Amino acid sequence: MGGAKTDIKLISKGKRIDGRGFEELRPIKIEAGVLKRADGSCYLEWGKNKVLAAAYGPRECFPKHTQNSYRAKLTYRYNMAPFSTDDRKRPGPDRRSTEISKVSREALEKVVFLEYFPRTAIEVYVEVLQADAGTRCAALTAASVALADAGIPMRDLIVACAAGKVDDEIVLDLCQEEDNYGSADLPIAISPRTGQIHLMQMDGTLTRKEFSTAFEMAQKGCLKVNELQKKALKDKYEKIGEEYGTE
Ligand code: ADP
Repeated sequence: MGGAKTDIKLISKGKRIDGRGFEELRPIKIEAGVLKRADGSCYLEWGKNKVLAAAYGPRECFPKHTQNSYRAKLTYRYNMAPFSTDDRKRPGPDRRSTEISKVSREALEKVVFLEYFPRTAIEVYVEVLQADAGTRCAALTAASVALADAGIPMRDLIVACAAGKVDDEIVLDLCQEEDNYGSADLPIAISPRTGQIHLMQMDGTLTRKEFSTAFEMAQKGCLKVNELQKKALKDKYEKIGEEYGTE
């Protein structure tokens, strides 16, 4: 991001660099319950992004001095695999992944009923296997499905999506080229049922009017992605129903 002047034409004849319309999401696939060892899990493909989320808990909280007597301790680890980007990404945590983990954890703390499980730990791990912009949104969307798949009580799912500004147009769900050479990116995360906003960040600059347009566009994007989250969870439990011979 940064709106660097470039010869790359990001929008031509009303279409974006990857052929999408301004309000079009990249193709998204969500599958729940993909990992045997985790309590809940989710595999999500969003355009060229590929992420895997695992959720554990509520389980015993270690080290014990980090236990909270009134509620569960929620941890969230966002990690990019070294092979997830064009240049090899240096393995391990960095400032960016620490920041993404923090804001994503704070978002999930708003929807998980932590007070039901004092002294326990609820842990979420998200591995970005392939990155193409929008990974914090993809990761949080997958994490929320993994938590629901683990049967952890939540007020609502959380769903995330971004909108931004590219070649003076407000567009939904920026891809890597748009993120690199566009002039603003506005990722948000909401609870689809209540509309509550749990995460909002912005890179670049927007006028007040552009901000409102981008925000509304991102909200609409979130609601579309939420339909896919719900379907993934329904499909998983229908499959279990079939295995156990129930309707
Ligand atoms: P998000 O993935 O949530 O959009 P950023 O805007 O920080 O987060 O990053 C945009 C994209 O830039 C990432 O999805 C990824 O493709 C790429 N990227 C981020 N960090 C690195 C890195 N350390 N090395 C190479 N590419 C990176």
